[in-house]
Formats: sequence, C-alpha cells, structure tokens
Amino acid sequence: MLSNSRAAYRAHNHQRCIDAAMSRAHERCAERRARLTPIREAVLALIWQSHRPLGAYAIADKLPPVNGKKVQAPSIYRAIDFLLELGLIHRLPSQNSYIGCPFPGNEHSDVFMVCRGCGSAAEVSADALNQIIADTSQRSGFLLESQCVELTGLCLACRDGELP
Ligand SMILES: [Zn+2]
Ligand SMILES: [Zn+2]
Ligand SMILES: [Zn+2]
Repeated sequence: MLSNSRAAYRAHNHQRCIDAAMSRAHERCAERRARLTPIREAVLALIWQSHRPLGAYAIADKLPPVNGKKVQAPSIYRAIDFLLELGLIHRLPSQNSYIGCPFPGNEHSDVFMVCRGCGSAAEVSADALNQIIADTSQRSGFLLESQCVELTGLCLACRDGELP
C-alpha cells in the first residue's frame, strides 16, 4: 500500500482518488445492502476533498446544500456514523477528525502517518505491526476490539520543502 501513501504526499490527480472512493462506496453499500443517500454521499465526497482529515464542525461548515437544502447537524452526524460503520471513513482519535479509507471492506487495521506540516493523513497497511499488536494482546489475555496507530511527522513533500 506504499503507493497509496505516496499519492497523498506527491502532487497527483486527486480527482481520481475522489472518483475511485465514490465508486468503492457505491459497491460497498450494494454489498451491505445499505443506501448511499444523497446526504451520506455528500459527506463522503466532502471528506474526500483532500487527504487532510476533517472534523465534524468543518464538515458541517463546508457541506454544500443537498437537494437545495442546508443539511442539519444531526443528519450530518448520522451520515458520519453510517460511513464509519461501513468502513468508508476512519476517525483519527488524536484530533477527532475523519479521513476517507482507500480500501474499505478489506480486513485491515488503521495505521496513519499524519503530517504536522500539511496536515495530510496517509493510511498505510502495516501487517507486521498488526501481528505484533495482535500477539501482544493475546499473550496478555486482552481482547483487542479496535486499534488506531497514528504516526506524527513530516511527509515527503513537506520534508522536501525543509531540505536546503
Ligand atoms: Zn488524492
Ligand atoms: Zn482504512
Ligand atoms: Zn506534509
């Protein structure tokens, strides 16, 4: 999944990320027999506007009218819960914000590289790390229910800017 994490750093055609995310969302909803209502779709599209996580207030603030109507906060929160439930987005606990998942529906654990320069968060798969976490939990008799690993630092693009 390294190519995916690189995509977040480098200048790229982000419209392709958005298009791919929206078509995966439709597939995922069809599999789960869930409905991607216009509000859910609008919230997902907004979260996918960039690779920077968005908080609920920012989502409420930036969400364009849906079917000509301003979407009320409770509907937005319900849409966020729905998207989380289907694994289409993840919540970053440290900043209480949301980011689109590039590979929903696959068994994976969240490991994010969060850039303190540009604010981007790239989801990467780290199978070896997940194995260590699973083994450690098991040895301790701990029932692991969820995990989210956030790495903080500077992405490649921001590092390039800092290098002389
Ligand atoms: Zn992109
Ligand atoms: Zn994910
Ligand atoms: Zn950066």
